[in-house]
Amino acid sequence: MTESTAIRWEQDDTGVVTLVLDDPHQSANTMNQAFRDSLAVVTDRLEAERDSIRGIIVTSAKKTFFAGGDLRDLIRVTPETAQDLFDAGLAVKRRLRRIETLGRPVVAAINGAALGGGYELALACHHRIALDTPGTKIGCPEVTLGLLPGGGGVVRTVRLLGITDALLKVLLQGTQYSARRAQENGLVHEVADTPEDLLAKARAFIDAHPESQQPWDRPGYRIPGGTPANPKFAANLPAFPATLRKQTAGAPYPAPRRILAAAVEGSQVDFETAQIIEARYFVELAAGQTSKNMIQAFFFDLQAVNSGANRPQGIGSRAVRRVAVLGAGMMGAGIAYACARAGIDVVLKDVSLEAALKGKNHSAKLCAKAVAKGRTTQEKADALLARITPTGEAQDLAGCDAVIEAVFEDSALKHKVFQEIENVVAPDALLCSNTSTLPITALAEGVQRQADFIGLHFFSPVDKMPLVEIIKGERTGDEALARAFDLVRQIKKTPIVVRDSRGFFTSRVIGHFINEGVAMVGEGIEPASVEQAAAQAGYPAKVLALMDELTLTLHRKIRNESRRAVEETGGTWTAHPAEAVIDRMVDEFGRTGRSGGAGFYDYDEDGRRTGLWPGLREHFTRPGHEIPFADMQERMLFAEALDTVRLLEEGVLTSVADANIGSVFGIGFPGWTGGVLQYINGYDGCAGAGSGTGLPGFVARARELAARYGERFTPPALLVEKAEKAEKGETFTDAR
Ligand code: NAD
Repeated sequence: MTESTAIRWEQDDTGVVTLVLDDPHQSANTMNQAFRDSLAVVTDRLEAERDSIRGIIVTSAKKTFFAGGDLRDLIRVTPETAQDLFDAGLAVKRRLRRIETLGRPVVAAINGAALGGGYELALACHHRIALDTPGTKIGCPEVTLGLLPGGGGVVRTVRLLGITDALLKVLLQGTQYSARRAQENGLVHEVADTPEDLLAKARAFIDAHPESQQPWDRPGYRIPGGTPANPKFAANLPAFPATLRKQTAGAPYPAPRRILAAAVEGSQVDFETAQIIEARYFVELAAGQTSKNMIQAFFFDLQAVNSGANRPQGIGSRAVRRVAVLGAGMMGAGIAYACARAGIDVVLKDVSLEAALKGKNHSAKLCAKAVAKGRTTQEKADALLARITPTGEAQDLAGCDAVIEAVFEDSALKHKVFQEIENVVAPDALLCSNTSTLPITALAEGVQRQADFIGLHFFSPVDKMPLVEIIKGERTGDEALARAFDLVRQIKKTPIVVRDSRGFFTSRVIGHFINEGVAMVGEGIEPASVEQAAAQAGYPAKVLALMDELTLTLHRKIRNESRRAVEETGGTWTAHPAEAVIDRMVDEFGRTGRSGGAGFYDYDEDGRRTGLWPGLREHFTRPGHEIPFADMQERMLFAEALDTVRLLEEGVLTSVADANIGSVFGIGFPGWTGGVLQYINGYDGCAGAGSGTGLPGFVARARELAARYGERFTPPALLVEKAEKAEKGETFTDAR
């Protein structure tokens, strides 16, 4: 037995060696130095003692099987240190290859998450058996962090599944499969129901296959489905770049293209050369800015946000058991579904039982779809629906320990519905409003227990959108904040926490995106170019289309209310150039947005967009008036980023991680940036063109935009201060 290493060697008297992944210094096994050292020792020993070994089982003593590359190391890779990463990676791959070709059966007994490096380790085994538990997740999600699987994952999935399936099922989407779905898709060979069953199956495989070999090491092996060497396959090859363009909409995501290149190039050469090609592309991505942005946001920031970095400490958590949802419209119906899905009993109240039933029907539809797609069983769907009690009567809310209000956006009505139910629900029930624009402090004045009142801003469609923005009013207590946080986690969503302010964080910042797009139309720029600029910057929704969805009238109403609030407190309102465009669209042309049947786009009877309204060109466009495409993209990105810095200055936002996660998950700020503040940290020229210099480069560019397009791009003091300290390594980062 070799002690104090990341891999424990256990050998029984039948000649089966179990390699137990169990890093003594970490909660999860990762591809760190300890693992690399242990792998070197283990590989040599396996070769030296080959004659007394009948088979090898690889399994884990941790909750996860193997977590893959250590992201703390990867985020620090620079072009200068890239060669070290290349060498270390290749050394690991060569050792795995030596074990794979030892001439003894090697079985991966996957007893927990095997994602990325974990699945790559399993791929180097001849046989993969996955334990069927909720924690077992299998796949290569590297693409979601701007990387590619650099531990042999591209080389082996291509040889296992063929280029097409490897790309579409494993590499390009980063899908995480359950044990059973992994088996259905050919990622693992068998599924085990219990840990004992897992080991028994592993042993049975060793007994039955003493001469194991990987398929790609057998004589006459060919990559399934062919390679570009085959003319038929080559004819289909151009479809892949087109698929990629569809996936990224031309936005600067470098990983999918490198994955495609590694898969195709690697399919035409021998295994060893393919491993080298894969390593080169991996290192190129790891040293680049996009992977750093994505690792920061989707690993470190997300972990900080979900683990409660912003939740008041020292307050115990208690699960919500029965929630009252007031208003069964679009949002209320979605919130009811999300709560019931998490096992919470829901009383869904609207003005009448009929209206409430309509809201419940939304859940019925979602359940039917989930059953049809095999995502849940009929039994579970029935149980979910049984948890939702529709009603038109306030007294049915007795005993509810939380309330989420989602009636029309009208303060008087919201005050009224809280008055009706405050004394019916549990005396200490948490009181939440899903308002998207009304200040929480003022809404709280409508209830007796203001300390228990809080904003819980969901996003539409609720069943899909992962974010909830929690808004702390002036009188909201820490206990209510902690309970609201726990409720959001209970329904498996991601909570960010902000202070009360007009539009909070998300609605205010997305307003700047929309205003910038609309302003460009007003300046005379081709509307189609504006839409293209948003798409190629990586926004999931085009800007004018989004304006139509939200409706021009609502946008104008919110703006007028903000203006009134500023003027009432003695301030001066600075009109945005978008305002005049919106006013003309509504007042002169009667175009209010999609729900009104006409907006920046035309719509058919079913509400489908049929094209940009030709009148835009007639009334706004100045033919020949063009600005650089980079300016168009960056005006939108910078408008959002700069206002986020102002929100930090104002204390509405208190956490950088919340800003990054909230912007990507809530309002569609492009994912390649790592979120709205990481975009500033890692500013790398327009759309990641590689000409930026981080924070100081961002400030210089903001000044340039201010000189060309208006004062609103002037960098706020906090940003200038940060940029000055950037040389000492200071950035907008609070989680790592
Ligand atoms: P909606 O018009 O679809 O639904 C409102 C529901 O409230 C209707 O079913 C109505 O019958 C019901 N209602 C009205 N008076 C009531 C009363 N006295 N008691 C019980 N129910 C009553 O509206 P929505 O889009 O679901 O929005 C609801 C709230 O959520 C608003 O405050 C809105 O600002 C906010 N919000 C909306 C979105 C969005 O994308 N639509 C996103 C976040 C937040």
